[in-house]
Amino acid sequence: MACICFPDGAPAAHSGERYNFAAGPAMLPPEVLAQIQHELPDWQGSGLSVLEQPFTGAPFKGLMQQVDQDLHELLGIPPNYCVLFMHGGASCQFGLLPLNLLAPGQSADYLETGYWASKAIAEARRHAPLNMVASGAGDGFSAIAPVHEWRLNPQAGYCHITSNETANGLQLRHFPELSVPLVADMSSDFLTRPLPVERFGLIYASAQKNLGVAGLCLLIVRDDLLKAPRAGLPSPFSYALQAEQQSRLCTPPTFALYCAALMLRWIRQQGGLKAMARAGLAKSRLLYQYVDASDLYHCRQRPADRSAVNVCFQLRDQHLLALFLRQAEQTGLLNLQGHAASGGVRASLYNAMPLAGVERLLAFMRDFARRHG
Ligand code: PMP
Repeated sequence: MACICFPDGAPAAHSGERYNFAAGPAMLPPEVLAQIQHELPDWQGSGLSVLEQPFTGAPFKGLMQQVDQDLHELLGIPPNYCVLFMHGGASCQFGLLPLNLLAPGQSADYLETGYWASKAIAEARRHAPLNMVASGAGDGFSAIAPVHEWRLNPQAGYCHITSNETANGLQLRHFPELSVPLVADMSSDFLTRPLPVERFGLIYASAQKNLGVAGLCLLIVRDDLLKAPRAGLPSPFSYALQAEQQSRLCTPPTFALYCAALMLRWIRQQGGLKAMARAGLAKSRLLYQYVDASDLYHCRQRPADRSAVNVCFQLRDQHLLALFLRQAEQTGLLNLQGHAASGGVRASLYNAMPLAGVERLLAFMRDFARRHG
């Protein structure tokens, strides 16, 4: 076991293994990375790389069908929903949602839970009048308003939520049954737990956290929400037109789809979404329990609303943060810096993060607290 000496002279164990706690693009399971590397020059004996496959050819169409089918099976997606594969990340959907789902002049409801909900709101507001059902901005996004406090508009075209606030460390535990379509940005907790898909009108998620690599945004849309595109909307951005063309209206992000196929198989091999949820809760609980019991660290998020995916906490003495992050990096614990809007520390525990990574982080935090407490 190698030893690193910190500037303050304190030694720390370093097993040589590195753990990437980045919020996204995030770590991939080593098995998935190895498979990408192994089959990159020759995909399925075709003599060509997956990067060179025509998206209209039978092999790649088969891969897209497989991704669709795996998602249906893992999530139990009902038959009246379709899956769309789009470019442009979740940020692109912030503007495309009102353009696709609302009639001109119609308003939508939004729940403001943190940095990403605020982004979604700012963008949607450029296209439609919005009603805030509740906002956590007043208390610095440290809790999520319970459903009975939401000021819902029964005439709204949809109600938008952010199921997990990546930058603020908050997560919605329960999804309400509403009279208007529930629309969710699930970019950071998609495929980390089973979902009652039938409660949603639309779910969307960028792929680069739990479903592979950047470039792909996945949508699950209830059929009745697929409307003829409004004037001026470019065809590849129309949900209805993409659905008609099985997401091949333009060249889909083929490499990201290939990585998604590998990730879905990996998730199934690990035991599916219940297993992912169990592992996620176990990993995050270890961190929260330690932080709550410690004098050096603290977590300001209300316990009931804390994210199992992005664990955010502060050092009580803010002056120690830079040293904490530097020493963590030196022990192979990478990208623990909190989001620029929130500061502090953020440990992103997506599906690919093993328990061993969290245990290593805990050992480092204990050691750091011993030296600086
Ligand atoms: N929503 C959430 C909850 C996110 O975490 C992110 C990215 N961190 C986004 C939206 C934006 O995703 P993209 O950068 O792919 O547009």
